[in-house]
Amino acid sequence: MGMDRYRVKPGDKVHLDRLDPDETSAWEGDKAAAKEAFVDLNAKLEALQELLYAEGKHKVLIVLQAMDAAGKDSTIRRIFDGTNPQGVKVQSFKVPTEEERAHDYLWRVHQHTPGDGEMVLFNRSHYEDVLVVRVKGFAPKERWEKRYDHIRHFEQLLADEGTTILKFFLHISKDEQKARFEDRLNDPTKHWKFRKGDLADRALWDDYMAAYEDAMERTSTADAPWYVIPANRKWYRDWVITRILVERLEALKMAFPPAEEGLADLVIA
Ligand code: ADP
Repeated sequence: MGMDRYRVKPGDKVHLDRLDPDETSAWEGDKAAAKEAFVDLNAKLEALQELLYAEGKHKVLIVLQAMDAAGKDSTIRRIFDGTNPQGVKVQSFKVPTEEERAHDYLWRVHQHTPGDGEMVLFNRSHYEDVLVVRVKGFAPKERWEKRYDHIRHFEQLLADEGTTILKFFLHISKDEQKARFEDRLNDPTKHWKFRKGDLADRALWDDYMAAYEDAMERTSTADAPWYVIPANRKWYRDWVITRILVERLEALKMAFPPAEEGLADLVIA
């Protein structure tokens, strides 16, 4: 079963309250051993990314979504530490600018999707348009309701044109968020991470969970699967995500491009 336990299969119902953000069931050793295993896995990921870049045939899109303080930033830092900045890009999606708002919601997204040999990581994404927009009522239901279909088709288009897509929801508990917010408030070097507005989103926790459940149920497909990652334990989160990435990239059976003719006999003067 392996990491497949975290994949939302097409047709699955998602019940986030039945998925334990504390669980670490796919790892049998202790935390220290997991951290060691992570180092090796991380090296594999680096090598695969190098191959992706060298081969220049595949495109990889990784979507990260989560509640505040669930660890999007540290996941990005930990997992992509060591990859080649030439082939990896992180794209964050914030509150839309005036120009972005003047267009359809996928306009700002499509231009940042990966090209051949690239791996692009979305820190938030087009999913905000069925999450915050739905929960906060920024668009009427008639409008966001249609977006699940658009998103499924959009991602299918990307997949059909050669993009490998993986979508991760970092699942923390409401208690864990509280602890992390308190930690931010108690540490002046972390104050920049805290916005009072985060509390308004926290108050809407249940609405967000419902919105996430719907989004994942309606857009997890064979070619663009969602994974619900237990994320209360950071070491487990990092290990699981890296394993999934390594497995998906290995399945691409990539190879370095063939050398030019006659390299074996070449003597450098
Ligand atoms: P982050 O929390 O991702 O580290 P910020 O604190 O700048 O970064 O938060 C970005 C904010 O932008 C979030 O509150 C998010 O809900 C909001 N946002 C992103 N996309 C949209 C969108 N399409 N419509 C409205 N708000 C959005």
